[in-house]
Amino acid sequence: MKKYNFSAGPSILSQFTIKNTAEAVIDFEGTGLSVMEVSHRDKEFMATMDKARLLFKELLDIPSGYEVLFLGGGASLQFCMVPYNLLNKKAAYLTTGTWASKAMKEAKFFGEVVEAATSKDKNFSYIPKKFDVPDDADYFHITTNNTIFGTEIREDIDSKIPLVADMSSDILSRPVDISKYALIYGGAQKNLAPSGVSFVIVKEDILGKVKRPIPSMLNYKVHIDNGSMFNTPPVLPVYAAYQTLLWLKEKGGVKEMEKINVRKADMLYQEIERNRLFKSTVSDPRDRSIMNICFVMHENYGDLEKEFLEFAYNKGMVGLKGHRSVGGFRASCYNAMTEEGVRALVDAMREFEKQC
Ligand SMILES: *Cc1c(COP(=O)(O)O)cnc(C)c1O
Repeated sequence: MKKYNFSAGPSILSQFTIKNTAEAVIDFEGTGLSVMEVSHRDKEFMATMDKARLLFKELLDIPSGYEVLFLGGGASLQFCMVPYNLLNKKAAYLTTGTWASKAMKEAKFFGEVVEAATSKDKNFSYIPKKFDVPDDADYFHITTNNTIFGTEIREDIDSKIPLVADMSSDILSRPVDISKYALIYGGAQKNLAPSGVSFVIVKEDILGKVKRPIPSMLNYKVHIDNGSMFNTPPVLPVYAAYQTLLWLKEKGGVKEMEKINVRKADMLYQEIERNRLFKSTVSDPRDRSIMNICFVMHENYGDLEKEFLEFAYNKGMVGLKGHRSVGGFRASCYNAMTEEGVRALVDAMREFEKQC
């Protein structure tokens, strides 16, 4: 049976990425070696790393003065690397979910942290509209897409102080005005590659301003100076990320991807609104994520939750169970999820409604 993978992360990847990576596991670009056993200093892999960083820049139209890095450690390591490299005295954090809260917690090891706003009062079901960001903070940290709660900041906000964004789960889903950000980071396993690699887009002139000594592995400057090859990078995930970037370019890039993502999200949100069994957990449409679409059973039908999950599962839909802190369902519709896949989910919701 055809599977539709709605998992939040690790999550769906394009068939192009999966097939080409599988091929490279057997024979990496005609070297007769697996991509898992080549030296990261071999010219073939060095070229892959360079091409991946360049294509990332091209696809997101990253201006000069910024560098792209592929590092290990996941987005969670960035929660500490960001303040390590940027926080002298004070930083501001917008807490719109679990990941945003975790990021803020790590920053507290390095200095004073101001919570610019939070949506915790309503279980992170909305994006606060007013932020209180002190002018003298070193940076302002936001999480553009809240993977667990299904809210998203889809505009590139204006900030007087350097803006830092965790874009783990919406990178490459839309065009981004990179010039508005000082640093963007994320784990690859939501929209780019298997787990094991993170991407960092960093404006070079924001570095070198903190007074503390920084251990080499945690120092962005060291990684930049070494072409993202200071130590052994996650070779296989970087190869897979490169394949996803090639696929994305072939599909028309992030502009085209955004159109498709909006169409997919509209289709699903419309069905959630229409269907008497379900309701959205995010009431303001402006705050709704186009990547992670969260919904629950309507009060009157609460006992049907398990049944619907099973119903959808039997039609090949996996990973639809919502995170425990929200309940219900979460359909993650990353770039690689097709319109056909979302339509299949909508059809399943309709069919289930009819039989209830
Ligand atoms: C998944 C996720 C993380 C954590 O990523 P790891 O790579 O597991 O550390 C952080 N932020 C957001 C927004 C996420 O979706």
